[in-house]
Amino acid sequence: MIVMKFGGTSVQNREAIERVISIVSGRLREKPLVVVSALAKVTRLLVQIAEEAENRNVNAYRADLAALRDRHVGLCKEMLSGTNLEETLSKVSQICSDLDSFVEGVGQIGELSARSHARIISTGEILSSTIVAAAFNEKGISCNWADARRMIITDDNYLSAKPDLDVCQANIKRIIPASAKGVKVVLTQGFVSSTAAGASSVLGFEGSDYSAAIFGMALNADRVEIWTDVDGIRTADPRVVEKTARIDKASYEEAAVMAYLGARVLHPLTIGPARRRNIPIRVLNTMNPEGEGSTVAKDVDIPEGPKSVAFLTEIDYLEIAAPAQKSVSAMLCDIVPVLKANKLEISLMSTSVSKLSLTFECGQPGLQNAVSELSDRYDVTYFRDKSQISVVGKGLSACPGIMDAVRESGKCSMLSFGSSMMDLSAVVDRSNVKEIVNELHNRLF
Ligand code: ADP
Ligand code: ASP
Ligand code: MG
Repeated sequence: MIVMKFGGTSVQNREAIERVISIVSGRLREKPLVVVSALAKVTRLLVQIAEEAENRNVNAYRADLAALRDRHVGLCKEMLSGTNLEETLSKVSQICSDLDSFVEGVGQIGELSARSHARIISTGEILSSTIVAAAFNEKGISCNWADARRMIITDDNYLSAKPDLDVCQANIKRIIPASAKGVKVVLTQGFVSSTAAGASSVLGFEGSDYSAAIFGMALNADRVEIWTDVDGIRTADPRVVEKTARIDKASYEEAAVMAYLGARVLHPLTIGPARRRNIPIRVLNTMNPEGEGSTVAKDVDIPEGPKSVAFLTEIDYLEIAAPAQKSVSAMLCDIVPVLKANKLEISLMSTSVSKLSLTFECGQPGLQNAVSELSDRYDVTYFRDKSQISVVGKGLSACPGIMDAVRESGKCSMLSFGSSMMDLSAVVDRSNVKEIVNELHNRLF
């Protein structure tokens, strides 16, 4: 069997969903499990609704809830007919009414817990999957809807929840084959999950890719297909660099490093479950289904050298000077517990005798607190106007000129070679990160 995951733009409207149905129809022999995201932009709208409720902005969240309902009801009416339309409209209406009441409750108290937030933003996938499953049935392709929240069980870190992979596997192995009886397609949701206590949780933004890999691992799929809006993994983000090339094959390690360093075509956690069982991941374009896309698999016959330029526009960057009497290792022993206590994830780190440089993906709430604590002990400079760029590919250290290419593409504050020798990264000014990415890409490819 195979897993086929379709992202938000791939299910954004009637034409897109019809394309999905036609792509899946061509693979029925392979017994596909289809995983869908929310319709494009819906998760963002739900985040906005949650924030408006927290701010008790009643008119705003009511208007947005109405728009959300209209978009999904409109889509049902465009695609479905007869009892299928009636039944699906009734489900969609119930899901929207439950959400309305929940949001009103949050709006009344003006308090948004992570748990309520997750409950609200998980609605997008529940709505999209209900409609896409009905659309398959409408086209005569029998399809069962399966609830991912009964299978993907996580901890109670509601908005970026960690799944218990063994429990997920047992649930998926029980529920999916049962749902597959008598139908051609089983369809479920990405992103959504629930805690062991039964509350809604989500796997973090863009987490549907990760869901697909978990389903693939549990079912020992022949492959996991990630269907999106680009022709595979490219040498850079095509929204930023005009002339990119398709990467035919990348190793699990390369793809994971690219994703961690900002190539958002795959969610960084997607690789783990696939690699556990050696399941290849194919990245394919819904708008060009005949295209070859990219394959991510075990490192066999994968050429060495630079593969892609990744970047993170929004990072926080710290430079911490070592006092004369303290070694960098003593400093590290001191600093790491502060980072841990503030739940900070480091992106890059570089050390020298006199200085420690660190980057963090923006938006980590504990950073300000950590900076204050560290500033009592050290000379800390906190930069909010930096970005990081990275060249990724195996065997980079043996590539002549790679260091110069990075250094000469723009002014760098920090250079760091990943210890797996698979990425060379630099911190640069945010104001011209896009030009630097383009310059670096043109030098390398
Ligand atoms: P989906 O909604 O299908 O999950 P995403 O927007 O999350 O789609 O991911 C696809 C996007 O990833 C592309 O449109 C592209 O802008 C971006 N992207 C970033 N880096 C890369 C890369 N190296 N190769 C391909 N796409 C990339
Ligand atoms: N709908 C979620 C998001 O927009 C999950 C996903 O699309 O992967 O982040
Ligand atoms: Mg995505």
